Amino acid sequence: MACKHIWKTVNTISRKAHLAGSKKFKSGFDEADAYDIKILSARQKQCVECSKKRTTVEISKTQLDSIYNHLSRPIGKEGREEGLSNIENKVRKFLIKVSKGKVQTRHERKAMYKEVWLHIYPSRPFGRGNTNEVVDWIVNISDFDTSNDLPPLNSLVVRGDTGMPGDSWVEWKKHSNSLYKNVEAAQIACWDFWA
Ligand SMILES: [Zn+2]
Repeated sequence: MACKHIWKTVNTISRKAHLAGSKKFKSGFDEADAYDIKILSARQKQCVECSKKRTTVEISKTQLDSIYNHLSRPIGKEGREEGLSNIENKVRKFLIKVSKGKVQTRHERKAMYKEVWLHIYPSRPFGRGNTNEVVDWIVNISDFDTSNDLPPLNSLVVRGDTGMPGDSWVEWKKHSNSLYKNVEAAQIACWDFWA
C-alpha cells in the first residue's frame, strides 16, 4: 500500500542562517538567487512512516505573482485560454464582466487602468509606471481576441479623467488587424458581443 506520508520538519534553514554561512540547502538558495527569487526559509521534511524526504521553501506572494506573470502557458483549467498568461486570463475575465456591466466601475461598462491593476494586485498601490504593465496585458488579450474574430477588450480600458483609452489604443490599432475603425466602434462591438 502506498504511504500517505506524514511529514515532520527535521530542519529549518532561514535566509538569515543561509546568509550567515549555513551549508544546508546552500545550492537551493543560490540557484533561486540566480533567478532573483528570494527564498525566505527552507524546510527539510521527512515522512515519519517511510522516511521519504522532501524540501519546501517559502517565498513572498509578490514573488509568486511575478512568477505567474512570466508563465506564458497557463495550466489548462476550464475557462482559460491557451496563449494567454494566468494574469491575462484573469484580466480578460474581469473585462468581460465589466463589458456586461457586472462590475461597478467609475465609468459605466469600462475599467480604468487603475481598476484593472487593483483587480490583479489589490494591495499594491497603482502608480503612473504601472500603466505600461496594464497596457501589455490588454494588448495581448486584444491580439488574442482579434485573431479569434472577437472585439478588442482594450477599448474598454480607459483613463480616469477622459473615460476613454489613452494613445496606446490608437498605436495598437495601427499595428493590429482589428476591423473596428475607431475606439467607439470597438467599444460598442464589445458591449454587444458580451451583453
Ligand atoms: Zn511516507
